[in-house]
Amino acid sequence: MNIILLGPPGAGKGTQASRLEADRGMVQLSTGDMLRAAVKAGTPTGIKAKAVMEAGELVSDEIVSGIIGERLDMSDTAQGAIFDGYPRTAAQAASLDSLLEERGRKLDYVIELDVDEEALVERIVGRYTCAACGAGYHDTFLRPATAGVCDVCGSGDFRRRPDDNEVTVRTRMAEYRAKTAPILPIYERRGLVRRVDGMADIGRVTAAIAAVLDGQ
Ligand code: ADP
Ligand code: AMP
Repeated sequence: MNIILLGPPGAGKGTQASRLEADRGMVQLSTGDMLRAAVKAGTPTGIKAKAVMEAGELVSDEIVSGIIGERLDMSDTAQGAIFDGYPRTAAQAASLDSLLEERGRKLDYVIELDVDEEALVERIVGRYTCAACGAGYHDTFLRPATAGVCDVCGSGDFRRRPDDNEVTVRTRMAEYRAKTAPILPIYERRGLVRRVDGMADIGRVTAAIAAVLDGQ
């Protein structure tokens, strides 16, 4: 099964994708994570993307569709992919159709995480991850069981993203509204969209997505 998780920054895409990965053996394909890895490694793609990401704007369609295409050539994605943060423009949506078709795969669902934009700023400024294993947390909504210790790997080293600040978040929201929200009707016409309440507790959102994937 191949699905897209669609929603503005902070909607919960990454949180739900990593749960689906753990629960169902699907593979999370987050273009944001891939771009951050490229920035960290100082690759030519990373060098091009860094300033754009820090400004909260969108990296070019060619770059992101290129990295998704390369990732889809790795055999683990044949089990099923969760597209997290991709596609973000109509051109990327068209590229994804071609990339899947060329590999004999298809999209099963587009899960729209329906959220209240004002609540997202709080989610984003409170977000942090474990630097060692990447597990995601939140200052208020998802704290480790023992303060300062990652539940998953025991590390005490945490990171916050440079673009997770209130100013950049506003630009990222505006980019979402202008360029990403307009791709929903494309998928609605194809009958692929399933809307889930993204303002519910994390566990309830997971259950609602599971119900969609299990056809309930
Ligand atoms: P996205 O990948 O869509 O940008 P994340 O999954 O990283 O969003 O979630 C943003 C922040 O909000 C994280 O710190 C996460 O722990 C928290 N979060 C995610 N889903 C919920 C939810 N349903 N309720 C409260 N907080 C949430
Ligand atoms: P995310 O981790 O999804 O919040 O993405 C962080 C940043 O990476 C975004 O603000 C963009 O600058 C860039 N980015 C991630 N995915 C895409 C994409 N599909 N298209 C364009 N830019 C992207």
